[in-house]
Amino acid sequence: MRIGVMGGTFDPIHAGHLVAASEVAYRFELDRVVFVPTGQPWQKSDRLVSPAEDRYLMTVIATAADERFVVSRVDIDRSGPTYTVDTLRDIRSLWGEDHDYHFITGADALADILSWREPEEALRLAHLIGVTRPGHVLEDPGFAPGRITLLEIPALAISSSDIRSRVARGAPIRYLVTPGVEAYIAKVGLYDA
Ligand code: ATP
Ligand code: MG
Repeated sequence: MRIGVMGGTFDPIHAGHLVAASEVAYRFELDRVVFVPTGQPWQKSDRLVSPAEDRYLMTVIATAADERFVVSRVDIDRSGPTYTVDTLRDIRSLWGEDHDYHFITGADALADILSWREPEEALRLAHLIGVTRPGHVLEDPGFAPGRITLLEIPALAISSSDIRSRVARGAPIRYLVTPGVEAYIAKVGLYDA
């Protein structure tokens, strides 16, 4: 199988994530995309991240109807900070070493790759697909020839940060997230001011 892996905080998951995964799945003929919500994210220790179970459930709700999409708990069930190399090791041991793995990342996250733990090893475990994201320059960091592919996808200037601030000030998030995620946010009171 050809398997995509998309890591993220998903606080909350939004249309930008779903379009990125769907477009990469189409262009790279992926059979599955595994969404992997992070544990306590080390790059976001400056703000409170919503509980992992809420982020996991929203990711399940948003992806449930797409037969290509599944959600994995490997990062939220592992203690300590999340590193992509650990995500890929765990996914490969669960799904099998013989598949062709593609890790999907937006331009902003790709630019951070040199701060990843064991970036060379992560790139040995999966091809990296860097996708365009409005407001960020997409470029190949250049240290892993043949292991990184850049892809232009439909531009959606949507971020989880903006959605959280919209909820806090009572602005609409309809169409930015799926109806189920919108309902879950309201039900739990996530992001309320
Ligand atoms: P936050 O604002 O909290 O950082 P976010 O919108 O950036 O949230 P993340 O969960 O941090 O979402 O991102 C997970 C992955 O999805 C990253 O690789 C990121 O680059 C990518 N991504 C997020 N939003 C988009 C978008 N609108 N277009 C393309 N890629 C995106
Ligand atoms: Mg982000």
